[in-house]
Order: sequence, then structure tokens, then C-alpha cells
Amino acid sequence: MVDLLTVDDALARVLEHAAPLPSEPVSIDDALGRVLAEPARALVDLPPFPSSAMDGFAVRAVDTPGDLPVAFRVAAGAAPPGALPAGSAAGIATGGTVPDGADAVVPVEDVEDRGDTVVVPEAEGGQHVRPRGGDVRAGDVVVEDGIRVTAVRLGALAAAGVAGVSCARRPRVAILATGSELRSPGEQLEPGQIYESNRRMLAAALEGSGATTEVLPVVADDVSAHRAGLERALESDVVVTSGGVSMGPHDLVRRVAADLGVEEVFWGVAIKPGKPLAFGVRDSTLVFGLPGNPVSSLVGALVFVRTALLALQGARDPLPVYASGRLTSALRRNPRRDEFVRARSRWTDDGRLLEPVTGQESHMIVRASTADVLVHVPRGDGEVATGGTVRFLELG
Ligand code: AMP
Ligand code: MG
Repeated sequence: MVDLLTVDDALARVLEHAAPLPSEPVSIDDALGRVLAEPARALVDLPPFPSSAMDGFAVRAVDTPGDLPVAFRVAAGAAPPGALPAGSAAGIATGGTVPDGADAVVPVEDVEDRGDTVVVPEAEGGQHVRPRGGDVRAGDVVVEDGIRVTAVRLGALAAAGVAGVSCARRPRVAILATGSELRSPGEQLEPGQIYESNRRMLAAALEGSGATTEVLPVVADDVSAHRAGLERALESDVVVTSGGVSMGPHDLVRRVAADLGVEEVFWGVAIKPGKPLAFGVRDSTLVFGLPGNPVSSLVGALVFVRTALLALQGARDPLPVYASGRLTSALRRNPRRDEFVRARSRWTDDGRLLEPVTGQESHMIVRASTADVLVHVPRGDGEVATGGTVRFLELG
């Protein structure tokens, strides 16, 4: 393996091939985690009418202070019977419509409610009144295209009266693990065998990025099994294989994929773990050959496959999102490859501190599971010192 692509160059190559999928209408009940293909616009002004922020009395500020007759009372959900007559007050609940003429609300705890009249202190014009359209105006954009729907955005869409949105179709991902040594948890291990761990892990990591996943049966290290598995997998938008992309005699994925018409875009990335990652395309299907070591597979999925999935959904910012923190111990740089070091993070008054876990080899998935972040250590000479600032990804 001679020419290793940098992580950034490899990501750019992936993005060149990840055009957004066709869009479809989606009810907001199903929109969580989806990416909008078109901007969603408010159907109403929000609030739709001037509304009271407090339980209290609506008044004209110029009439205060004073002992004012109570003209009527307004509950939330009911229209006021008319405008507020000059020199009077109207009882009003939080969320009630402030009647025409009134320009302030005096909270109930500040008044003396005498039943027919109310004694109010001096009020300032506009106090405790939420103006119509103060949050958004009808026709304005609530959530822009290319943005993913989160809990707060679901709330915003519903509040603005949006019942349905347009989203790129969810990418369908087929997950295919290769390796004659692999057995499922629950089965008895014979000599030389290990438990298969990557399929569930990859499915979980990728479903979190808006994909639907199909987990295919494990294929043995022979050409016909690979061919059958890959043929099936290639019916999806994205194929993710694990194992069989190194230089060993049983590493068949690239060869069989090529036989099935997959054009390799690159093989080999300057990343640790996960160097022998392969990426190819067949028509619009993207094919990721992730190395079999579990941590390598997961890093490849989080850095590359997730980016592709977000791009296929039309996300504006599909690239991995890094945060920054400081190391609790020095980390030696790898001269040739960017490294993703498993670490535990904790918040302190000094910000987020990152403590690498023991056991950084790519087969050590249990050690990796004690971490919550992947610290990015750029390739180079020397080390990143204790206290040095680094970028990290959430491990997920
Ligand atoms: P490979 O990339 O096929 O050379 O595999 C590298 C290492 O990862 C070997 O020790 C494999 O046994 C192991 N491995 C490959 N696939 C899986 C898997 N799905 N689950 C757990 N370990 C795996
Ligand atoms: Mg293998």
C-alpha cells in the first residue's frame, strides 16, 4: 500500500460521489433525524395573535395606576368579546388574546382583585404582551433545507403549523461482514473462531445518521460466498462490508467487488486505525470496504460512512463535527497517519479534559467501549503534550 490518501482528501472523494437521494413527503411525526430537502415555512404568525405572558389583567398603560372596572375576562383558547373599553381592565390567562386597545398586562400577583374592579399599579406599555408574529411570521422559514430535524426543530415546526416536510429518502445501507472465523454470540466457539461484533455495531452507528440498515448473513472467506453476499448488498444505496480488505490471501472483498462492476475510487487512507479502507462506486451505489478489526470498522463508519449518509440526505454540513478539549497525558504522533485515540472525556472548570484509555489496539473493542470520544491526533513528529488542545469526535 503506497499512496495513502489523507483523511480530508478521502472525505472529499467520498463527497464527490454522494449526491442527494430523491425527496419524499414526510409527516412531522416521522421527521425526527431527517434532513429537509426544501425549507419549511411557517403557516401562521407565531404567536398568531398578541398574547398574554402572564395570568393577570390587560389594561391600557395610560389608565394606570388606578382602580379599574373589570370589563370581561379572557380564557386561553377563547377570543375576547371585543375591544377593551378605555378606563377598564380585562382578566386574562397566560396565552389569552390581549384585546384590541389593551397594550399591557399586569400580573395577578401585583393587583388587588375586588371582583367588579381591580386595583392596578402603574404599567409600562407592552409589558407582558407577546406581540403577534414575534417569534416568526407566516411564510418565513422555520427550518432551512439541508438541516436535520432535532427535538427543538420538531417543536418549532409544529408550533408554526407545519404538518409535513419534504426530506431526501433515507439511504438504505446493507451491512455485510466477511470472515470464516466469525460466529454469532450464543454459539459455541471452536478453536480459531471469534464472535462477530461488527454488524450490530455498524448498524447502530449508521441508523443514528438517518439510514435504514439491512444486516446480511456473515460470508465465509471464499469467492462464491462473497459474490452472493455482495450481489445482494449492491441492491442498496450504500454497501458497508467489514473485513477482507487487507493484503492477505483471504482478503477477497475488493477483487469480488471489482468483478461485480464496482469501480474503486480509493484504497488506503492515512488513518489509524483503519488504514486499508476501500471506497468504490457502482452506478449510484456507494461501497465502503471497512477493515475487520472492530475499532477500525467503527472509526471508518463514523468518519467516512456517516459523512456519506448525511450527504446522501442532502445535509449542508455532512463532514464529521469535531469539538475540542485538552489532553490529560501526552500522545505521540504517528509520522504517517492521523490517529483516532479512544479517550474518556470529563467536564471541569477548565473545559473538557480528555484521558486516553488503556488498550488502543484496533481489535480492543471492549477497551474502546470504556471511552466516549475519539481524539484526533494529526500525523507528524514528536507528541501532543499534556494539556495540549486537540479535536475530538463523539464515539457514539
Ligand atoms: P480482516 O480485516 O478480515 O483481515 O480482519 C482483521 C481482524 O478483525 C481479524 O482478527 C478478524 O478476525 C477480525 N474481524 C473481522 N471481521 C470481524 C467481525 N465482523 N467481528 C469481529 N471481528 C472481526
Ligand atoms: Mg477476514
